[in-house]
Amino acid sequence: MLDKVGNDNNNYNKDNIKTIKESSPTIGGLIEKEYLRQSNNIELIASENYSSEAILAACGSCLSWKYAEGYPTDRYSGSESRYYGGTEFVDQIEEYCCNKWREVFSTDYHVNVQPHSGSQANFAAYRAFLNPGDTILAMTLDNGGHLTHGSSVNFSGTLYNMVFYNVDDNGYINMDDVRRKAEELKPNLILAGASAYSRILDFKTFAEIAKSVGAVFMVDMAHIAGLVAAGEHPSPFGLADVITTTTHKTLRGPRGGMIFARKELAKKIDSAVFPYSQGGPLMHIIAGKAICAEEACQPDFRKYIHQVVMNCKACSDEFMKLGYKVVTGGTDNHVFLLDLSDHAFTGRDLQERLDTVGITLNKNTIPGDKRSPRQTSGVRIGSAPMTTRGFDEDDFRRVAARIDEVIKELDAEFAEKK
Ligand SMILES: *Cc1c(COP(=O)(O)O)cnc(C)c1O
Repeated sequence: MLDKVGNDNNNYNKDNIKTIKESSPTIGGLIEKEYLRQSNNIELIASENYSSEAILAACGSCLSWKYAEGYPTDRYSGSESRYYGGTEFVDQIEEYCCNKWREVFSTDYHVNVQPHSGSQANFAAYRAFLNPGDTILAMTLDNGGHLTHGSSVNFSGTLYNMVFYNVDDNGYINMDDVRRKAEELKPNLILAGASAYSRILDFKTFAEIAKSVGAVFMVDMAHIAGLVAAGEHPSPFGLADVITTTTHKTLRGPRGGMIFARKELAKKIDSAVFPYSQGGPLMHIIAGKAICAEEACQPDFRKYIHQVVMNCKACSDEFMKLGYKVVTGGTDNHVFLLDLSDHAFTGRDLQERLDTVGITLNKNTIPGDKRSPRQTSGVRIGSAPMTTRGFDEDDFRRVAARIDEVIKELDAEFAEKK
């Protein structure tokens, strides 16, 4: 693992990169440069993380050579089981992976570990319950939702009738608005989950509202899955009908997706993934997901996630102490949004300037943003990756102080321009 200040002090991938360079100097050289970039930068992108070397090794293993369309032979008999021979060992890997994830979330829900990404998981989950034209009630992108939650440039916004609930003036999800919209618009599915929301999601009330209007209740916990696993965020299991997630954000696993659903929905979910929306599963990634689940069961993972939350709070508190506005006035999880609407420069200006001083984050719209998604009035800051690299609260306070310096430079430059 990379050390605290990001020095390249370990054996990570050295042989690996050497092997690639011998075959392809171009790609090997670029991977090496990217590794050094990752090693030397302060990484604050809330959706990124550093997985273990065991996970990386599984993802680069011989399993990448295996075709295994279908599901482990014991799960279904007949046509839904594997379509290929030679699946004895990958069957065991996939079954083990599913069981391990049930253990992580202490659940008896069905789990499908085949989705190639979070977006693929959402595509299949919608398909399992909805027909094109059906209504989904979700949160808009500019309030913190995800592209797959109804953006007009995404399949979700074109295949389904998307309707939206909003955050209140303080940036919190307005549960009264959720209830009002649910009663008025009678959605087939209500979705809770976000990419840029710093507060606890009230799954209980969402579930109760969904039940009262006869809607499917879906949770997309792509960002907070690690917090749910570690008990730092209330669990949607037992409340939601279907739960989707990524495995590469706070869960710190390989890049991929998963779907959980009430047991009786198993077949619906499985057939929406394969054969409806995917072909062969990525068995090397599924092996990585299994190791990720093993790691998430360890006491060290709980400690890690607790530190992620403490660090995030320390960083957002420091910004507020320095006089900045933070959306909702703080954070309960691994992410917060800095509100820069009072400044002459944009979120994009800050993102680009921070790139030049070795700090990586992303511009992000804030609720009610007057600037476009390409410019934005905010930036999103996440604590998960740097916590993996050993940062504590003091380090995160220093990060806030450094960003404050850069913001003051920008303020001065933009004042001159006027
Ligand atoms: C990241 C994210 C996804 C999609 O993940 P990809 O793997 O990038 O497709 C879906 N939903 C939410 C809420 C996310 O934050």
